[in-house]
Amino acid sequence: MNYYSLNKQAPKVSFQEAVVQGLAPDKGLYFPESISKLPQSFFDSIENLSNEEIAFEVINQFVGNEIPEKELRQIISETLSFDFPLIKVEENIYSLELFHGPTMAFKDVGARFMSRCLAYFNKGKDLKNTVLVATSGDTGGAVAAGFLDVKGVEVVILYPSGKVSDIQEKQLTTLGQNITALEVDGVFDDCQEMVKKAFLDEDLKFKNLTSANSINIARWLPQMFYFFFAYKELKKENKPLVISCPSGNFGNICAGILAKKLGLPIEHFVASTNINDTVPKFLKTGKYDPKPSKATISNAMDVGNPSNFIRIQELYGNDLENFRNDFSSYSFSDEETKQAILEIYKKSNYIAEPHGAVGFLGLKRELEKYPNSIGIFLETAHPIKFSDSVQEILSVKLSIPEQIESVLDKEKKSSKISNYEDLKAFLLS
Ligand SMILES: *Cc1c(COP(=O)(O)O)cnc(C)c1O
Repeated sequence: MNYYSLNKQAPKVSFQEAVVQGLAPDKGLYFPESISKLPQSFFDSIENLSNEEIAFEVINQFVGNEIPEKELRQIISETLSFDFPLIKVEENIYSLELFHGPTMAFKDVGARFMSRCLAYFNKGKDLKNTVLVATSGDTGGAVAAGFLDVKGVEVVILYPSGKVSDIQEKQLTTLGQNITALEVDGVFDDCQEMVKKAFLDEDLKFKNLTSANSINIARWLPQMFYFFFAYKELKKENKPLVISCPSGNFGNICAGILAKKLGLPIEHFVASTNINDTVPKFLKTGKYDPKPSKATISNAMDVGNPSNFIRIQELYGNDLENFRNDFSSYSFSDEETKQAILEIYKKSNYIAEPHGAVGFLGLKRELEKYPNSIGIFLETAHPIKFSDSVQEILSVKLSIPEQIESVLDKEKKSSKISNYEDLKAFLLS
């Protein structure tokens, strides 16, 4: 399979090149050259397939012959070594829990898939890749765990000192081996700025730098799997499905739209955001007007200029009416989010965290228009990852799951840096 850059100023590349480069040389995001529907027989018998079999059918055309079937099945099997439970929260409303992976964030799936693809491509070569990521919290932990001990890949994570939660910091800084955490004296935007500068720095070309956020196709594409898993569970209900994704960079929902292109019967998508409402505004006015991000309690979605928006536009043929037919987007304040967490708990005894609660709110609003449907909201993190807000809102004490417990006793190891020169010196050392 070939990929083209959405800026259309760079040559087409293979799956491997797109994964290794991350972003195209013209700074565009890569997009698959063709998208083929899966055969009807696949959907007819999906309930008889395992998650791993489903995932193979879904991703196969996007990898093509660049990874042999046996190895690709192995990568998928390692990627999906945990559950994706669908929990009934109310009549016709389900939470699809994506947080049962090693770092309890949905980004585990993409990070694990990408790391194993890179490892496959590097096998038997001297080549080394350096994955450089800036994180405001959740991405870094998933990438660190996903790439731990993967041969031929060094991972360098930049995070803003004092601005991530204790659990998140432990997940970033205690792994060692091929993972290095750099604690930046600054905010998330400073980290992001440094990473961007490093990608453009000719002196660092030999480091084969790549990114591991959802601009990378190997992080983005495997997120399609969740939507198929949910369909498999709910197919027997024989009702239209409405799916709400709590959205920040819009990678997850963009994968859902791609899943629909493959023939997955999803009636309608809802992109639920916090007050960073660039996309809800776009759907209303037709004008895309990115803004600097504002801080909220659902901080993994504090994004003012969602990087995958351009891919969504491409999927809808840059046609606003197409877009609106399939897709709604609503924005909610922290106050509404807290209220929702409380309400879900009181009514259903279900503990949602701020991102999932935003998803729930968007779903509820949309279901007013689709009363005979089944609604699903994605729960993208375990409540313990946002325990400060959840415990305060619900006045409960959350118990600490095993995955988290095991990192809390480990010793933090990080190096402090304050500017780009420090980062460069580190990368050159
Ligand atoms: C990253 C993240 C999101 C947003 O996902 P996108 O694909 O960027 O839209 C939502 N919730 C949590 C907990 C996240 O970590």
